[in-house]
Amino acid sequence: MRRRLIVGNWKMHKTASEAAAFVQRLSELVPPINSLEVVLAPPFTALHAVAQSPASRSFALAAQNLHWEDQGAFTGEVSAPMLKDLGCRYVILGHSERRQMFGDRDEGINRKVRAALRHGLDPILCVGETLADRESGRTQTVITDQLQRGLDGLSKEDLRRVTIAYEPVWAIGTGHPASRAHAEGANTMLRTTLESGWGTEAGEQVRILYGGSVTPENASEFLASPQIDGALVGGACLDPHSFATILTLAQSFAR
Ligand code: PEP
Repeated sequence: MRRRLIVGNWKMHKTASEAAAFVQRLSELVPPINSLEVVLAPPFTALHAVAQSPASRSFALAAQNLHWEDQGAFTGEVSAPMLKDLGCRYVILGHSERRQMFGDRDEGINRKVRAALRHGLDPILCVGETLADRESGRTQTVITDQLQRGLDGLSKEDLRRVTIAYEPVWAIGTGHPASRAHAEGANTMLRTTLESGWGTEAGEQVRILYGGSVTPENASEFLASPQIDGALVGGACLDPHSFATILTLAQSFAR
């Protein structure tokens, strides 16, 4: 059975000291977490503060990006070994903001996925169609393409460590989430693609999350679905009360 996973993507929010205070507050608000996995993805500059906080013990740590090389003359970049050393367990890759604003492409994302795996970080690969893709009936082509290219060359063993986040671009940060039926349809297409590429057994155990304007008000709708293994939460994870509410709800749908 796939364990539910909730990821909080802080994007470019919170200084290191704000991050430490946030984690303290969050840990006071959530009941002990035993039936799901919770991942916090602060900006690079706050990873150390979160990792060092005793209050972060129930949460795993993720970075929001990495460079595929281990080290070298890449000004402004951060590598997988650096993130691993800071205590990261996961890394978010291929987020639509990286694809749209910073030129991340499938080939580079695939190099990042491989670098993560090589250094013991579990990748959370984001895929999702734009509104124009959706309106032109290209959702399936776009998301299965991003999936196959992002995971190109991975073995079944590698796949065990991968999580997919289906995040329609039109739903991210807009306050207009996908319907449960739309998210389920996309997740089913993605799982079928995984199963035909890597076999039923390997494809079946990959967690596929939904992300895009998840809030305490709508989270249950997604978390109740057998096809949705958890959520990637942006805006609503920045407030400890709203994130704690989502985590509490997620626990009640634990498998
Ligand atoms: C995200 O950052 O991936 C995201 C889903 O953001 P939001 O929840 O704000 O739509």
